[in-house]
Amino acid sequence: MKSIVKNVAWDVALQSHKCKRNLKHIIAKGDRRLKIKEGRSESHYCMQCAEKILKGGLLKINSLIDDI
Ligand SMILES: [Zn+2]
Repeated sequence: MKSIVKNVAWDVALQSHKCKRNLKHIIAKGDRRLKIKEGRSESHYCMQCAEKILKGGLLKINSLIDDI
């Protein structure tokens, strides 16, 4: 079955770095982060942004389901 969220997963930062959505957010080494594959590259987001991204996706999916 085709999945629309196959490119999204949790992983753990191997080193400290900035969140892709907001450069003021720092993801510390060992922190959980949301990994989204976009083409050949991967973007990583802090938990705060991950929640917004996932909820935003859910709203979109719900609106598509409502339209069935
Ligand atoms: Zn963030």
